[in-house]
Amino acid sequence: MSQTIEQIRAGFEKALVDVWGAKQAARLTVEVAEAPAISVLAALAYHPPRGGNYAIGDSLVRIASSYMLKVSPELLAQDDDLVRKVLLHEALHVGYPRHDEHFEYMARKVGTYASEHGMRTGGEYVIELQLEKGARFRPVHATLDKYEAQAFAMQKKAGPGRYRVVH
Ligand SMILES: [Zn+2]
Repeated sequence: MSQTIEQIRAGFEKALVDVWGAKQAARLTVEVAEAPAISVLAALAYHPPRGGNYAIGDSLVRIASSYMLKVSPELLAQDDDLVRKVLLHEALHVGYPRHDEHFEYMARKVGTYASEHGMRTGGEYVIELQLEKGARFRPVHATLDKYEAQAFAMQKKAGPGRYRVVH
């Protein structure tokens, strides 16, 4: 099912409430951006740009004055479930700019990906698992650490099957 930009905006506002518990009083702009301006399904930018985390655990401790959510035309063509997960992922970035361990914890908690899941940004290594021959590879873990990724795949930490590391 395809999405409109208004649905994306409403979905992102809902994701913010789902992740952080309350409606945030910041200015939000949502726009469609074409490659090369955007190489992923969605990206969140802040003003002013921040350093460090904006959350402690699952609580936001401060917010930026405005946010810009850029989405690619491809996101508009994705199904509802993937769009919801992408928007939850971007909502998590309001609190945690990087895919650090806090981000990963929250991603598990709210049921989304800890990486851009196929969007391959930020130098992340995504470990994918194929349960049986011919089946789709599915992401099971993501990390910025190449050696952790290789160790995860070699130790088959998510269970039996074939693993590959995608970067
Ligand atoms: Zn991300």
